[in-house]
This record gives sequence, structure tokens and C-alpha cells, in this order.
Amino acid sequence: MLVVGEGAQAVAKLRLVLETEAVPRLIAKAPVTELAALIVGHDVDHHARGFREADLDGAVLVFAATGKHDCDAAIVAAARARGVPANAVDRPELCDFFTPALINRAPVAIAITSSGAGPVLTQKIRARIETLLPPRLGQLAALAASFRPAAEKVMPTGSKRRRFWSRFFEGPVADQVYAGRADAACREATRLLGQANAPAEGFVSLVGAGPGAADLLTLRAQRALLGADVIVHDRLVPGAIIALGRRDAERIDVGKAKGCHSKSQDEINAIIVSQAKAGRRVVRLKAGDPLVFGRAGEEMAALRQAGIAFEIVPGVTSALAAAAEAEIPLTLRGVASDLVFATGHDQAGDTLPAWAGLALSGATIAVYMARSVAGKVAKRLLDAGLPATTPVAVIENATRNDQRLFAGTLAELPALGDHRDVTGPALILIGKAVGQGALADAEPLARRETLAA
Ligand code: SAH
Repeated sequence: MLVVGEGAQAVAKLRLVLETEAVPRLIAKAPVTELAALIVGHDVDHHARGFREADLDGAVLVFAATGKHDCDAAIVAAARARGVPANAVDRPELCDFFTPALINRAPVAIAITSSGAGPVLTQKIRARIETLLPPRLGQLAALAASFRPAAEKVMPTGSKRRRFWSRFFEGPVADQVYAGRADAACREATRLLGQANAPAEGFVSLVGAGPGAADLLTLRAQRALLGADVIVHDRLVPGAIIALGRRDAERIDVGKAKGCHSKSQDEINAIIVSQAKAGRRVVRLKAGDPLVFGRAGEEMAALRQAGIAFEIVPGVTSALAAAAEAEIPLTLRGVASDLVFATGHDQAGDTLPAWAGLALSGATIAVYMARSVAGKVAKRLLDAGLPATTPVAVIENATRNDQRLFAGTLAELPALGDHRDVTGPALILIGKAVGQGALADAEPLARRETLAA
């Protein structure tokens, strides 16, 4: 391998080449101190003069690292003329190959390139990925490699093997490796292999997908999705989040569009129970948080009755996401010290809802599923004595690309029904504290003609 250059760029490339088994040839007339030190400390075939075409004789790779564009271009041209692949620092158009930044956890290696964007971005990405990977990941990978032949013999089919490896990389085996106890890790791995053909036990994760933005998903939810054999999801969960599951996981859409129930709750319960009974890992994916207006109560009861193990993975409920987007404090010292999660949907009778009284004492009220009942909710609160001027915000599609924000007063809330184009999920926030939000750019709740009428 040939490196041409005498400055900082040559130092970087020479250092890279010295990580391989090749003895580099270096053409550097007057090496900077750092380069000189590398030459002294390693096996380098150094020539203290300028570049000559004959330097390419026998070279398999060339790094043009002179720091001068013209020189680098000439070296690359000469190399290409002889069919030797070349790389010129910071000149992607002059590169026949790239040398990515490497994260090394041998036998695991991660290469990062951000061609043309420059080394700073690459290094930043590298620094972030470094923090995600345990230092002993390489040892875990090596242990896995040593168990692979046995695992393939014991488990000829895909799903059992995947489950085995999933436990291998997450459970006690990994814990022992990371703690530096190689022998204990090996024992755990052997034990795990011994259990490999025990009948698979199904498991259900009731997972909150958050309000819509994929990066509001929790890490735990992401892990559950990656481990799922089947994903049973609602209509409100965006495709980008469902796509985070494994490609070969089955997807079942049990979405309920308002007014046209595609699956009854009993049918959904039956689906998750039967999938789990078949030994599969089920993720029941719901918008927001599963325990907030998410029918998780019914599903947990069905799972308990069927004796199926399950977990709940919380999510960011839409009231919190909507408030964050509109910079609305949900509680505010001296103004609002209660927060109510309510729904407009069980307001059948004429009685005041229990939370009307809380609204009077300054609570912030978050109303879910309320678009079609906005008028009724407003009337109930006005009847209870809440001032007509109480601030109200409505957030449609919170945290999604098509988010919309409306603001107005309690008296104007019924006008929400006039916005025929509000068809996405929408959440209403009512209360004095709502007035502290960043609502200056919000669309008016009541259109002007409505106000005039
Ligand atoms: N479990 C969910 C609520 C499901 S009920 C949660 O914790 O958020 C469905 C209602 O949630 C919708 O009618 C709407 O009021 C609200 N909602 C869900 N996603 C929303 C979003 N991105 N923006 C605004 N409201 C949303």
C-alpha cells in the first residue's frame, strides 16, 4: 500500500494502513513530527523525496494525502492509468474506494461513511454509536460464533433459533459476558441451548406507540417490536412505527375507524389470545399509552383468564404530546393543580360529568375522542359555571407531519364541528393554564363568519 504525503492527512492514512498487516510504502519528503514518529515506531518503507510514477510499481492501493489538490489529482490519475485503486483525502470524485470510520468490537465491526459530508460528521456519528455498544460486545459475538454450529444442529427451524439467539444476546448470557465472567456466560449459554426445544411459551406485550412521531417511541417499545412474531395494531398507529418490527413478523390490522368497527373488542381479544397460545410473541400496538382509553383493561382480563403472560409498555399519551407541541403547561402553580384525562364519548345523559366540578376549581381538562361531542362538552362546562372565556386549544394529529393547532375560548369550542377538514385524531385542552401556551400562530377555533353570525 502506498501513502503519499508528509502532513496531517498522511498521518491519518498511514495510521490506518498500519492497522493492517501490510508494510506501507510512504513517500514523504519532509515528514511532520507526528509522521516521523510513526515511521520510527513501525515497519514503514519510507522514501524522503517527491512522488514518482514508479512508486506505483507493485502497489495494490494508493492514498493521495499530500494536502494539495493538484498533487493528489496527479497521483490518482497516475494510479488509475495503471489500474491501481486510489483514494484522495476529502475528494470523493477522486476516490475509487473509501476508508470508513471503524467501530471495532472484533469480530463485530461497524463501518461508517458519510461521503462528501466530511470527517466531522462521520466522527460525530461514530461517537454516538460507540456509546451504544457495550465494550465487551466482541466477546459476546465470539461466544455466539462458537455456539452457532450446535445451535443449528439442535434447532433446525427458524423461529426457535431466533428465540434462542434473542435470549442469548439479551439475557443472562450477555449479562455475564458484559460483567467479564466468561465461564459463567458459557454455562448460561449451554443451559439455554438445553432448553431450546421446550415448547415455546407465548407472550403478549401491550405496547404504547406514542402519539405518532416515531422518535417518541420508547426504547423498550422498540425492543418489543423487534422481538415480535406478530404485531396486532390499531388504525391510529403510523406505518413508520409498524415498520420497525422485523420484516418477517406478521402484521394484523385490527383498526377501528370511527363508525366502522373492523374488529370487535372480543374479536381482538380472541386474536391475541390465540396467537399467544400458538407460542408466538405478540405485540399489541396501540396509539399513545395503552392504559389511557386504550381498552387495555379488557385485553388484560382476557389474557389473565387464558393464563397468558403479558407486560405493559407505556407510551406517551396524546394529551402530553399535544400539550408539548403547543407549549401548554398542564399544571401551573397557583392556577392549575389538577389534570383530568376525560373523554367526550360517555356523555350520554344530561347529568354533568364528574370532572365539571374539577374544571371549576382550575383543573386542566384533556378531552380525548371529543371532536364530534365538542359542542356537548362545551355546553356541559358552561352549564356548570365555567367562564365562557376559558382558554381552549385543539390539537389535531399531534407530533405528525400534518399537525394542526386551533385556539379559542370555551364559547367557541362548539365551532370545532364546523371544521369539516379536521378528520385526524384530535385532542381538546381546556383550562386557565391553556392560555399560557404558544397559541399566537394557532388557527382560530371559530371562523369569522361563525363569530359574525
Ligand atoms: N391510548 C391513546 C388514546 C386512544 S383514544 C392515548 O393514550 O393517546 C383515541 C383518541 O386519542 C383520539 O380520538 C384523540 O383524541 C387522541 N389522539 C390519539 N393520537 C393523537 C394525536 N396524534 N393527536 C391528537 N390526539 C390524538
